[in-house]
Amino acid sequence: MMKNVRRILKETVSLAQQAVLLLPLPKIVVDKAWATLWSIQAKYCADVDRLHAKKWRQFCHTMHRKNVICCARETNDLTDENIRGLMFHELAHIIAEQHTDLLFQDSGLQVEQDERGQPLFFMGDQEVDPEIFADALAERIFQVRIYYDQNKLQWVENQV
Ligand SMILES: [Zn+2]
Ligand SMILES: [Zn+2]
Repeated sequence: MMKNVRRILKETVSLAQQAVLLLPLPKIVVDKAWATLWSIQAKYCADVDRLHAKKWRQFCHTMHRKNVICCARETNDLTDENIRGLMFHELAHIIAEQHTDLLFQDSGLQVEQDERGQPLFFMGDQEVDPEIFADALAERIFQVRIYYDQNKLQWVENQV
């Protein structure tokens, strides 16, 4: 059912893993992130389907099930470029939540926690929206540029 999504996720994970290996970080930090990326799966989720029905741009979410990118049914019908953009963006969300040690010192990106333990995302001294942070993170650590098409949906050109 998620054939295209799974094919593109596999390709995206592989590119992300290659990029992570080049980061100026201790091997143990990189190895942990590598293993997380390796384990990430895309699955259909009825919750996202409902969100997608209300807001068309909402195709995926993370943090619902561990290391799973939940997808609305229609995600599979998008173009390869849109699916690739979504996958890189969602991988960055997972890294931002689970691997803050991957934010190397010169990246300009930081995650802190508020008094209730909720993450706060910073670019330089500026607190930013998690969505903006995810794209910036993808750019820094996966070496990919996420664009937005005329429908305001993530878009990444073919990388191979
Ligand atoms: Zn879900
Ligand atoms: Zn997002």
